[in-house]
Amino acid sequence: MAAASLSALSAVAPGSRLTDSYGRVIHDLRVSITDRCNYKCIYCRTGELGAQYPELAIDEYLRLIGLFVDLGITKVRLTGGEPLLRHGVVELVEQLARMRTLAGQPLDLALTTNGHLLDSLAAPLKAAGLNRVTVSMDAVGAATFERITRIENSFHTVLGGIRAARAAGLTPLKINCVLLRGFNDDQIEDFARFAREEDVVVRFIEFMPLEEGRLWSPEIVVPLQEIVERISRVMALIELPAREASETARRYTFSDGVGEIGIIAPVSQAFCGACSRVRLTSDGKIRTCLFSQVEHDLYGRMRAGMSDEELRAYIFRTVQQKEARHHIGEPGFLKPSRSMVHIGG
Ligand code: SAM
Repeated sequence: MAAASLSALSAVAPGSRLTDSYGRVIHDLRVSITDRCNYKCIYCRTGELGAQYPELAIDEYLRLIGLFVDLGITKVRLTGGEPLLRHGVVELVEQLARMRTLAGQPLDLALTTNGHLLDSLAAPLKAAGLNRVTVSMDAVGAATFERITRIENSFHTVLGGIRAARAAGLTPLKINCVLLRGFNDDQIEDFARFAREEDVVVRFIEFMPLEEGRLWSPEIVVPLQEIVERISRVMALIELPAREASETARRYTFSDGVGEIGIIAPVSQAFCGACSRVRLTSDGKIRTCLFSQVEHDLYGRMRAGMSDEELRAYIFRTVQQKEARHHIGEPGFLKPSRSMVHIGG
């Protein structure tokens, strides 16, 4: 990198917080630590492609995440691929738990997992300082679940992982379910019962066009309104107030106050206007939106010898360019070059 462009990057005042050109404050960082996955969920992977992008060393993730924290990030979510496949994940959490936000507080540390390895890792992750996990689970019946994951005996393994996470105190425990019409939309009411029986927050997510193959269509998406109506026919729902403006899920409890479900509706009711997120891929690229057409090579700049000050300036300037919103369903919409498993969901 030329000296002139390096010096042009050295201008972020200490204590500056990440914002974008639309005035959104960015305080939530999602970091993929591998794009390998041990599941082959039909709506995510084709099953033919493996890992496609390199992984950084654990101390490289730590340095990069630390730069974001210097710029006002307060919440870090580790994801993948399947983050629990990543050697060193417990040590990474341990080191992240030592970081402090600009306000001197510990980070809010979360992880998204398919739950397959949680049985043995929940307690060490909690001890290392992880606050919460979100487990992806797309059916509460073993046969449907395993038709989706394409892995034998995965249902009971994940159920065991969920219970281990609860026993370890990784709560409130959230379960994410991506609904696909014709595949698992018959599970909606059973999931509502599951939320109450297992004391978990079940969150239904609308399917986005981010798969490796070509499954997405507007018709396969089960929209928020339909989910609410279906559950309400069995049990009355009461909508809960949002806890913060950037909350992605619309939250509901049941009329007796027991249990909670959430619906994340990026397709039918996009929430881009309140987005507070930015992503770092497993190979160290910044993505300012799930649907970005461009990636910003932070790791490359670190390897080229940029100082922390210069890297912070680069992050600051990059986040300023965050996209206003996604364009799912609009004419001319383009899928990003990476699918969800390679971006880090
Ligand atoms: N392996 C981990 C897991 O299963 O949670 C983390 C990575 S996975 C890509 C993160 C989340 O993205 C999962 O809850 C998954 O169901 C969700 N996901 C994958 N593809 C999606 C899509 N096209 N639309 C919406 N959610 C998707």
